Amino acid sequence: MMTCKDAEKLIPEFLDDDLDNQELSDFLSHIDSCPECKEELTIQFLVRVGMQRLEDGNTFNLSRELEHLLSDSKKRLHVRKYLVMTSYILEIAVAALLAICLLLAIAL
Ligand SMILES: [Zn+2]
Repeated sequence: MMTCKDAEKLIPEFLDDDLDNQELSDFLSHIDSCPECKEELTIQFLVRVGMQRLEDGNTFNLSRELEHLLSDSKKRLHVRKYLVMTSYILEIAVAALLAICLLLAIAL
């Protein structure tokens, strides 16, 4: 389990989309279960994105944007895990194919 201290350190990296799969997974489950860190994330998000939006005069959708970012990250994490799994399966398939070729070569 990730501690609040760890989670807080990862917030800027999360906002930069700089976390690897494991970190992102731990981070998101911590944020889901920890209101304090969720609040900290919200604040940092608002500061970061809010500055930009203030210039555009468009601030009313910020909290929805954060929800979006969080659910988006979860989806991307899911896709990334799927890709990792797919590449494992492909590697196994290729290895199996090579083994079959080898066996055939020996048999012939
Ligand atoms: Zn926390």
